[in-house]
Amino acid sequence: MNDSISKIEVASAAADILPLATTARRHLHQNPELSFEEFETQAYIARQLDNLGIPYQKIAGTGILAEVLGGRGNGPTVALRGDIDALPITERNTATYASKRIGVMHACGHDVHTASLLGVAGIMQSVKNRLKGTVRFLFQPGEEKLPGGATHMIRDGALINPTPAALFGQHVHPPLEVGKVGFRPGIYMASTDELFLTVQGRGGHGAMPHLAVDPIVITAHLVTAIQQLISRNTDPTLPAVITFGKIESAGGATNVIPNAVNLQGTMRTLNEEWRKELHERLKVLVTGMAKSMGGSAELTINHGYPFLKNDEVLTRWAADEATDFLGADNVVELPIRMTGEDFAFYTHHLPACFYRLGVRNEARGIVSNVHTDTFDVDERCLETGAGLMAWLAIRQLEFAGTR
Ligand SMILES: [Zn+2]
Ligand SMILES: [Zn+2]
Repeated sequence: MNDSISKIEVASAAADILPLATTARRHLHQNPELSFEEFETQAYIARQLDNLGIPYQKIAGTGILAEVLGGRGNGPTVALRGDIDALPITERNTATYASKRIGVMHACGHDVHTASLLGVAGIMQSVKNRLKGTVRFLFQPGEEKLPGGATHMIRDGALINPTPAALFGQHVHPPLEVGKVGFRPGIYMASTDELFLTVQGRGGHGAMPHLAVDPIVITAHLVTAIQQLISRNTDPTLPAVITFGKIESAGGATNVIPNAVNLQGTMRTLNEEWRKELHERLKVLVTGMAKSMGGSAELTINHGYPFLKNDEVLTRWAADEATDFLGADNVVELPIRMTGEDFAFYTHHLPACFYRLGVRNEARGIVSNVHTDTFDVDERCLETGAGLMAWLAIRQLEFAGTR
């Protein structure tokens, strides 16, 4: 008996599931919830899984772990992840499915990731009897906020009993036309650390700087010197970025030198050793330099996500499978990005592949970037999103089962 599931079958199942996935996406889009507050979202996902007859457990607070056990006996486990949280943004789109909550919006497409994953769950359930192995679904909360919901999913056992042979995750990508997907084997996204710097001086009259210690002048030197850590100390072949996005004096006026200045910034690298060394160099630089100018500085580093490393072999394999499933014209190779993603945590535990899903439709004006108040997607991306992920899982079960 031939149990193999054909790509035509999966493609047609994805087309069939599109209305359901669209309904789910619109419901989630209208009812977004912030990181680690996804209570209604969790309940909604649970209801959909109930409808599909798929067993699940609540995990990581507001997350869900579900499994479809194949009917062909023991085989490998393949895991699929979708993040479920929204952002603190007020939506400006006027679509019927626009956010009903002022100040909260699915502006990073996590509604699409969740709806696609529900679509995959539906497809898997329909071919369950012919699967050899298990497909595990990770509905993950809190991607947008440190420490990242991925750490909670891992802590609560999402990657054990057994450890999956592979993990796939996808993310909407506004630069990419709907129907297309993108892959990048190897290091793909950056580590992200938050920087909080306080420069302490001594306030005084603006006309008598010699009687004060001006923290603004110290800050100006520090910001410039820190950029030289990037241009003069970072190996030019290893991308790194430091950006200060907020500088605020504590007090001060046209004629008043403030006591202190507070800065907030972000630091991105693609190399864990250099990340650690840069942390140290930053501390030495700001404390030494501020001291030499009569003030002091204190740097707090809020450690964020590590760099994201797509397993080379798995990702090349997935790109080949995507080419087979969607056609060569619809699969592109992606450049490295200096943005971060908490999927990165998983990639340091098991072979994983994080790929991009095209959502763009210029003719319909769907071009806004993620994290903007006009972000939207061409919902046909849900068909690609569910279909390709289902295909990768099905193929990986066959493939990993023969290794
Ligand atoms: Zn985001
Ligand atoms: Zn995102």
